[in-house]
Amino acid sequence: MPGKVTLVGAGPGDPGLLTRKGLEALQKAEVVVYDRLVSPAILAMMPEKAEHIDVGKQAARHPVPQDQINQILLDKALEGKNVVRLKGGDPFLFGRGGEELELLAQHGVSFEEVPGITSAIAAPAYGGVPVTHRDCCSSLHIVTGHQRAGKELDIDFEALVRTKGTLVFLMGVSALPQICRGLLDAGMEPDMPAAVVERGTTPAQRRISATLGTLPAVAEEAQVVSPAVIVVGKVCALAEDFDWFDKLPLKGKRVVVTRPRERAGTLSARLRALGADVWEYPCIATVPLDPCPAVDSAMERLYDYEWLALTSPAGVEALWRWLEGHGKDARALGAVKLAAIGPGTARALSAHGLKADYVPEVYDAAHLGAGLPAAGKVLALRAEEGSPALTEELARRNIACDDVASYRTVYENPRSQELRAAVEETEGLLVTFTSASTVKGFVSSVGEDADFSRMVGMCIGAQTANQAQKYGIPVRVAREATMDALTDMIVEGV
Ligand code: SAH
Repeated sequence: MPGKVTLVGAGPGDPGLLTRKGLEALQKAEVVVYDRLVSPAILAMMPEKAEHIDVGKQAARHPVPQDQINQILLDKALEGKNVVRLKGGDPFLFGRGGEELELLAQHGVSFEEVPGITSAIAAPAYGGVPVTHRDCCSSLHIVTGHQRAGKELDIDFEALVRTKGTLVFLMGVSALPQICRGLLDAGMEPDMPAAVVERGTTPAQRRISATLGTLPAVAEEAQVVSPAVIVVGKVCALAEDFDWFDKLPLKGKRVVVTRPRERAGTLSARLRALGADVWEYPCIATVPLDPCPAVDSAMERLYDYEWLALTSPAGVEALWRWLEGHGKDARALGAVKLAAIGPGTARALSAHGLKADYVPEVYDAAHLGAGLPAAGKVLALRAEEGSPALTEELARRNIACDDVASYRTVYENPRSQELRAAVEETEGLLVTFTSASTVKGFVSSVGEDADFSRMVGMCIGAQTANQAQKYGIPVRVAREATMDALTDMIVEGV
């Protein structure tokens, strides 16, 4: 059975601009073929076990030639694979999407196309330029400014000027002076508003505004580089009022997210929505202990306990794996009451249809231990090296507790030079820590002997902050242990 190829538009850069349908296709892919303009955050959404083929790599400064890409798509589909071809923006807008389908069509391979948000519209939009406005124009023209080597630009400037519409040029950075000259020669006014939006929709976005007459000089002065869109038309004048993206509170601010990969999403998405340049650097991963005789015997005697305490979403997941692995479901929990350390863990429970009977007012192990309204015995199912504060507090109150490890935290990215260099060389680099173990994982990545004095550890709670201070990391602590409070603190600190 031949497989299928899905051409997916990845959008212009902001990972939030990948469509739902595109994401679904990506998650089901067995092979992903992608190129240069697809953002790292979207590449991170590829299934790990899928085969990743980078055809945009500039080996000897040349990406893989188009006919080879076409052949790769065909070969993989004929092997029976479910192939996703990820392309920047929209695949059919100057994206050679059509060319890639021809060979497939000839061979009767089935394919689909998932349109993407094009940079031609989204980059101006993020730069505060609506590509049409009733007061300014009645048409939009998207033009390639690509110049074949040694050839003149093949653009009918007179026809474009006559439309009085908004003009958007893609692939036009190197031909910018010729484009502007062409429009001027065709009779467009030199004071027509114009703009360039570089790396649109990404944290590195820059908008350069000028007029048709001054744009080449202004862009050269600003050292504009590709990818960038050039916009010419009255709508460009609106950018001063509509420039929302540049005004986001964390615009361009780099924030390192150290949470485990599968949990980084919500924090990263919040920070990105505020304009941050999020660097996902998972420093820990959680691995359920399996087989685990201690969990087996505790679960078999669950009726002995009044409370089951869970101190992280990873703990809830490990519990679920255990239940599923034993052919059971939530009913196996019987009458035991459920305690969650905070709202994130409570949400993880409610995803399985269970309500937490107790969540402490302050979301940490000490408050859980101090506040849990227990008369009977407590079972804590948590990480191998969970905070001693929980058991200490319970012991102080003479409440019996079995502290059973159900998962292990492992450190990822050991001794990362890249992260170390960023930590040592960036003044005020913000690094988020959502648990004491993310701090330990981070330190194991960077190296304990690194100079942490320039960075700031943005900590979710006091225990996390204590851990960071042990390594000499300057810290700030969120007002409560939630992602909202952590995010607010980052915004306030900028
Ligand atoms: N299919 C793509 C365009 C591919 S042609 C789309 O629909 O967006 C490549 C050109 O797209 C680049 O030269 C640049 O002009 C533009 N481009 C792509 N991503 C961009 C971005 N993030 N910001 C500005 N321009 C971008």
